[in-house]
Amino acid sequence: MYDLIIEKGDLIDGSRAPRRRLDLGIRGDRVTSIGDLSGEKARQRLDAKGKILAPGFVDVHNHSDAWLLKIPHLLPKTTQGFTTEVIMADGISYAPVNPYTAPDWIFYMRALNALLYEEYTGWQSLGEYMAALNGRSVQNAITHLPYANVRVLAQGYGRAAPDDFQMSQIRGMVEQGMAEGAVGVSTGLDYLSEFFASTAELAEACAPMSAQGGLYVTHVRYRKGTLAGVKEAVEIGRRAKVPVHISHLKGTTPEQIDAILSYIDKTAVQEVDFSFDVYPYLPGSTMLNFILPYEVWEEGPMGVLPRLKEPQIRARFAHGLATYKLDQTFIAWLPGKENSRYLGKSLAHYVAAVGKPAADALCDLLIEEHLAVLLVFHYGDDQLVFPFLAHEKYMMGTDGIYFPDGAVHPRMYGSAGRLLGSCVRDHHLFSLEDAVYKLSAHPAGRFGLKDRGLLKEGAFADVVVFDPQAVADRATYQDPHQYCTGIDHVFVNGVQIIRESKEVKDLPSPLPGRSLRFKL
Ligand SMILES: [Zn+2]
Repeated sequence: MYDLIIEKGDLIDGSRAPRRRLDLGIRGDRVTSIGDLSGEKARQRLDAKGKILAPGFVDVHNHSDAWLLKIPHLLPKTTQGFTTEVIMADGISYAPVNPYTAPDWIFYMRALNALLYEEYTGWQSLGEYMAALNGRSVQNAITHLPYANVRVLAQGYGRAAPDDFQMSQIRGMVEQGMAEGAVGVSTGLDYLSEFFASTAELAEACAPMSAQGGLYVTHVRYRKGTLAGVKEAVEIGRRAKVPVHISHLKGTTPEQIDAILSYIDKTAVQEVDFSFDVYPYLPGSTMLNFILPYEVWEEGPMGVLPRLKEPQIRARFAHGLATYKLDQTFIAWLPGKENSRYLGKSLAHYVAAVGKPAADALCDLLIEEHLAVLLVFHYGDDQLVFPFLAHEKYMMGTDGIYFPDGAVHPRMYGSAGRLLGSCVRDHHLFSLEDAVYKLSAHPAGRFGLKDRGLLKEGAFADVVVFDPQAVADRATYQDPHQYCTGIDHVFVNGVQIIRESKEVKDLPSPLPGRSLRFKL
């Protein structure tokens, strides 16, 4: 007797093998049979005629860290078929912390995750954070060890290199993070504290995870140039003897893209075990405070506000700002009620409305909003990411940033629908089987998710049922809160969380999502 048989569908198992008409039998949290199950008994049967059965999707780069704690069912993600989130990207998150650094991170991350101090329940280690998530969300989660959190615990926010004692502390925390189940170390070398970390420091810090095969996952030093940043990441991986994964890798001109991809194909893959992710859109989204000169961060996030009044800081900020198109850069979210009328409005609009020079207007806005201003860019041609999406080392990372009341980037809602939909049907970038691989077996294998990512007997029953003709993204910059179409049913550990493209309300407690550990 099966708990569920999903029958008459076309099964794409995640391995890139061609689809086959097979039934899927589930008992408890596992897929126990695949084949012709028409004569078998089941408590429940689901007719998937004309539909695809695929393994649950894995998002290797996102900013869901605290949203998974705050919201039991993150619908923008599950309606795309994502069953596992790899959290704590870019080297910045809510663990590990101590009682002194926890308030800093909650303050700093406000425009990514909106965790409030009253929601902080006292966790400190990565293991404690992941234990708090277990059974709290409908999705599974596994985590990176975020490097800035570690570095700040060892030596504070300053620009000095760690001394020998501090480095031994950092290495000890990397070992501890791996022991607590991390997939490896994440860095974001344009973010606070981490932009002060040298290549040598990062190589030394990452070496302790070499034995377990922990990944060096990095938002490279984009301000130094993408190719130079990728080369540095490869150098770090080579020296530390660890695999390298580049986060949200893209280029903005055909020449730059050729240079990056030819470096990857000719050199990177020879020197290290290499992979990357990107969301299927060219325009990005990040915090306004990202543009501030590095020196304002030397005393930590709480030390930034007074420095924003200094004329020389404003002058340097103006210099950085000059590289952005203010009329095509939009305010996606900020916490203040007074300024909420500017959500979805361009920075040019805001600057004109307040009637000050741009750098002054935006520094004052950062002061008013306690640094928490999220931006979305609307410029760039999405076709420029196609060569990356089609690349063999590519897997999905949505980089989704969620605010239910924000004018957020559509990647939060549409990434998987776009990869399975227009990328396959309209642009013919790859087959549907390849698209599923990029969303399931490739990320699951790379990030050490045991018995997930492939639909086979014995695997966990993380399953997506979708319509290959109807699947599509609908979210736009003007109207981002639009769920994908064509993702019909989603199961996590054998429990249905999406039925007929809608939220399943009567879920068991604890919720089906589990905290996962690297390779275990
Ligand atoms: Zn990033």
